[in-house]
Amino acid sequence: MRAKTKMIHAGIFGDETTGAVSTPIYQVSTYKQDAVGDFRGYEYSRTGNPTRHALEVLISDLEGGHAGFAFGSGMAAISSVMMMFNSGDHIVMTDDVYGGTYRVMTKVMNRMGIESTLVDTSDLDAVEAAIQPNTKAIFIETPTNPLLKITDIAEVSSLARQKGLKTIVDNTFMTPYLQQPIQLGADIVVHSATKYIGGHSDVVAGLVVVANEELATDMHFVQNSVGAILGPQDSWLLIRGLKTLGIRMDETNKNAMRIAMFLEEHEAVGKIYYPGLKGHKGRDIMQKQTKGFGGMISFDVGSTEKANDLLAKLRYFTLAESLGAVESLISVPAQMTHASIPADRRQELGIVDGLVRISVGIEDVEDLIEDLEAALG
Ligand SMILES: *Cc1c(COP(=O)(O)O)cnc(C)c1O
Repeated sequence: MRAKTKMIHAGIFGDETTGAVSTPIYQVSTYKQDAVGDFRGYEYSRTGNPTRHALEVLISDLEGGHAGFAFGSGMAAISSVMMMFNSGDHIVMTDDVYGGTYRVMTKVMNRMGIESTLVDTSDLDAVEAAIQPNTKAIFIETPTNPLLKITDIAEVSSLARQKGLKTIVDNTFMTPYLQQPIQLGADIVVHSATKYIGGHSDVVAGLVVVANEELATDMHFVQNSVGAILGPQDSWLLIRGLKTLGIRMDETNKNAMRIAMFLEEHEAVGKIYYPGLKGHKGRDIMQKQTKGFGGMISFDVGSTEKANDLLAKLRYFTLAESLGAVESLISVPAQMTHASIPADRRQELGIVDGLVRISVGIEDVEDLIEDLEAALG
C-alpha cells in the first residue's frame, strides 16, 4: 500500500456491525460482561475504547511500529513514556527540545529521580560523550524549533543500540508521512498530534508508537495505570485528520519551499532557516531520512520592532503559538515560546529578537507570498 492510500485504508476501516464507513465514536466508559470476566474485548475505557483503539492501530501502522497509544496531549504522551523509566535513570536529550519537554524533564521528572543531560544531538560525538553508566535512552527531536537543527536518526539509533539504550524520537514536525523513525532504528516515536496529525487547530492530543511487544506491554501498563488517555471524540477527530495528512503535507511542503525561496531573496530578511534551502546544514540528512522538508521556516527581520511591524501588517498569518494547521501561523520565539530563556543565552543560541517563525498552511501560496511581500516592503 502506498503512503496516501495507507492514510485512508490502514488501521481499522469503518465498522463491521453496521457497515458505517467511518469508525463510530464509542462515547462509553464501561462494557457489559456476559459473566464475570467474560467481556468482548473491552471492559473499561481507560484500559481500552474502540474509537481510541482504531486510532492507535492506525498510527502504529503509519509509523511501521508494533503498537500505538493515544494520550490527552503531546506532553501527556511524553510524560507517560518517561514513566517507563525508573528513579536513578538518565536520559540524553536534544538541547533545543520543545519547551514543554524541557520543563517536564527539569522541573517534574527530575523530582522523580529521572535525570537528563541536554546536548546538540546533531553532533554524534557530543551524544556519545554525554552517555553515563546510568543512561537508559536518547531522546531526539528533529527538526528542532525554532532553528530547524537536524539530527541523523539512523546514526543516533545505531549508537544507542551499541550502548544498549533506547532511542525516542519526537516526530511532531515531520509526521509519519514524511519521516518514520522506527524504520530508521528508533524504538519509540512520540507526537504532539495537536499539530499536523489533527491538522485543523481543533484538538489537543498526543500519540506514542513503540517498536516491539515488550515496549508495548510496558507502555500499555503505564497508559492504563496513569490514565492520561485521549477521549473518543478527540480520537475520532485524529482519525479524520489522518485521512488527509498526505495531501496536506504535500501542499505544505510545496508552499513552504516557495516561501523559503522568496524570503531568502528578500532584502528585509537576514538569516533564514529552512532545511530545504541549499545552505542549510542538515539538508543532506533531511534528504536521506525524510520525504519532504516540512512547513516550518524561521527568519530574522532584524529587531523586535521590525518583527512586531511585520505581525501587525500580515493578513493571512495568524499570530498564535502552535503549528501544523491548515491555516498559516506566525510567532516571535524571543517574545513568546522562548521568552523564559535569558536574552544573552537566546542571542548565543541564535534565537535573536528579530527572529520570526512561520508555520506554512495550505492556503494558495500566491496569497501568502503577496501578503509577506506587502508586509515586509
Ligand atoms: C506542541 C509540541 C509538543 C507538546 O504537545 P502538546 O500537544 O501541546 O502537549 C511536544 N513536542 C513538540 C515538537 C511540539 O511541537
